[in-house]
Amino acid sequence: MKKSDFIERSVIKEVYEKPLFSLIREATIVHKSSFPEKELFVNTLISYKTGGCGEDCAYCAQSSRNRKNPMKAVYLSADDIIEEAGEAKKSGAGRVCISASWRRVPDNEEFEMILAAGERIREMGLEVCATLGTISDLQLKRIQDAGFSAYNHNLDTSEKYYHEIISTRTYAERLDTILRVQNSGMNCCSGGIIGMGESHDDRIDMLHALADREIPLFTVPLNVLVPIPGTPLENVEPIGFWDLLRVIATARIIMPESRICLAAGRTDMTEEQQTLCFMVGVNAVFAGDKLLTTENTDLTKDKKLFEKLDLKTS
Ligand code: SF4
Repeated sequence: MKKSDFIERSVIKEVYEKPLFSLIREATIVHKSSFPEKELFVNTLISYKTGGCGEDCAYCAQSSRNRKNPMKAVYLSADDIIEEAGEAKKSGAGRVCISASWRRVPDNEEFEMILAAGERIREMGLEVCATLGTISDLQLKRIQDAGFSAYNHNLDTSEKYYHEIISTRTYAERLDTILRVQNSGMNCCSGGIIGMGESHDDRIDMLHALADREIPLFTVPLNVLVPIPGTPLENVEPIGFWDLLRVIATARIIMPESRICLAAGRTDMTEEQQTLCFMVGVNAVFAGDKLLTTENTDLTKDKKLFEKLDLKTS
């Protein structure tokens, strides 16, 4: 079926609410017909600026607003970024996403440094992407010219639930950034976080917002909340695995052309659970021992699982 068949929210709800066994079977079929079955894209996140963020995202340890002891900003140098990219390449990653805890990308020497670092990473034979916050059209052009292949800007959750999570940036601003990235001709990645106390309806709304786009998203990163002590979501009830699988399978069915990326939260999953995620549509992961401020599965451990499953990584 074509992507346009799934733009209606009611159709997405129907898919999401299918009996789990049928949902898994359908997602597996869609996945097999959309991408080479064993292909897995391995991404690594390198954080140029960690902490000291003025936003108040309730899940995030980097916010300087929602913690008693806010994390001070820590910066990497250009050489640190290149070194981390080299390590990621040695461990088998095919692309590096450079992040910074900015609300809006500044027009200053830090941005210039990121552009230059991106060019050097590309020369190392890696793809390079960025997630730096709200970005202007001119800045988008600059990162495109520097060879960055994708820009990430997450929706995080549904429009209705959004006010429970963030008050310092609007949902409309996020949608606007996503649209501008897509209109610039760059690949746009956007996804969200599951397990922040949202309802099934919120999950369906978020999936609808991600799928209902004229240009399909390049990658849809799906994160499982990793509750961080000291943040407003530290005591949120964890999401059950079957609920997560339902979100992933629905995402695969309604967005057959997009890479579905299992990002934060993989460390707590068994190998069997991860395998099911790959079967129903996950074809990208974030690897490396850190994902911003949360622990992640290290690449050596990942490699063993990928080899066991005969996944072809790039
Ligand atoms: S998620 Fe990003 S914007 Fe929000 S507080 Fe964390 S670093 Fe800042």
